[in-house]
Amino acid sequence: MEKASVALVKVSQVYDSLREALELSNGLSGLEKDERILIKPNIVSWDFQLPFPPFGVVTTSKVMEALVRILAEEGYKNLIIGEGSLPGLKPKGDEIYEALGYTKLQERYGVELVDFNKEKFIPTDYGDGFKLDIAQEALAVDKVINVPVLKTHNQAKVSLGIKNLKGCLSRRSKQFCHGLDHEELNLTFPRIIEKLPVALTIIDGLYTLEKGPGPTGKAYPKGLLIASTDPFACDIVGAAVLGYEAKDVPHLVHYAQRHGYSLEMEDYQVLGEKVADHVEPLPYDFEWTEENTGPLGFQKMGIEGLAIRKYDSSLCTGCSVQFNPMLILLQSAFKGEPFDNIELVSGKKQTASPGFNTTILFGKCACQLNKENPNINKAITLWGCPPNLEKMTEALAKEGLHCDYEAYVGFRHYLFNRYKDKEGFSLEDWTIA
Ligand code: SF4
Repeated sequence: MEKASVALVKVSQVYDSLREALELSNGLSGLEKDERILIKPNIVSWDFQLPFPPFGVVTTSKVMEALVRILAEEGYKNLIIGEGSLPGLKPKGDEIYEALGYTKLQERYGVELVDFNKEKFIPTDYGDGFKLDIAQEALAVDKVINVPVLKTHNQAKVSLGIKNLKGCLSRRSKQFCHGLDHEELNLTFPRIIEKLPVALTIIDGLYTLEKGPGPTGKAYPKGLLIASTDPFACDIVGAAVLGYEAKDVPHLVHYAQRHGYSLEMEDYQVLGEKVADHVEPLPYDFEWTEENTGPLGFQKMGIEGLAIRKYDSSLCTGCSVQFNPMLILLQSAFKGEPFDNIELVSGKKQTASPGFNTTILFGKCACQLNKENPNINKAITLWGCPPNLEKMTEALAKEGLHCDYEAYVGFRHYLFNRYKDKEGFSLEDWTIA
């Protein structure tokens, strides 16, 4: 049997390197000139209010620009860019597209820009009881070019092509993917692709990210492009570069079992660079205390009297994005004295334990689940979906927990400034000249 091939290219000039990757992988072979083609970047979130470092988080505009230009030069004229960023995000897709320079692609090449969150989602039945609401535009196109980022993910280990398609789901279906069972996330989102005509995957590895998928992770310049007409083959190579064998990534294992793929690297043909020359293992998860009372960092700081239960796979992206800021806020409430025996639970399945004076219920799901929980003496309910940080600060203050919102603002500046003037990092990569 012919091996699925994957191009692995070191980036010199993005346009030239992408051309090389497409030639090596025969990447345009599955696309007809008159087809309507959706390009799906990864814009998991964006922020106009506080500094947002996009390194390793958001697909670079440089790769998007090069791709659209190549497609236009090759005679593909019916192009759309579509994404459904984090639900509940204040700045809507149009503003993000403007910030990323995509409107220039619209002016120059007639590319249509679609914010899935503003369009219809079609209830889609998989015929075996499994259902997802998928963006109408994603279902209607002839082909999809998937352009994820080369990054790790604190729940799914890696977030590459198969995971990137989660952006085509409605808010409800995204939340459904983060179900109760530990394996639910890994079983659900790999099925999205079964209804989408993905003809090409290009992993944007200009940067890479540990402890992703958001900007609280740490980014590194990488300078790679990985391309294949086979989505699984592309992901297996991307995972290897991040230091993960496919057999250790549950969603890749499920996908392989369902679609008859091998998990062994030797069963795929890698063209261009050697994988081994680019493997740099990156951690995917944050470290917690053995007693599950909080991040190791809290223990090192001497924070006591507070048990923050570690997020699980039922915590969806909305709450995940707020989880780290919540930690920063609670950390700011620590004034050297132990907390007054407080527990924090989150997600759809964590229940409050007995023996705590106060329980913080982080997010609507935790509030609902623990509404009648007799273990709770006093609850601080943060009902948002996801919780709003300013409201959270107010709610905690009423109970005598004085968080400093400015500490969070400072943290956001810290995250951003980590890359300032640092060699290999350029915000220009998210602009289009
Ligand atoms: S509260 Fe959090 S975990 Fe629950 S549905 Fe909303 S975002 Fe997801």
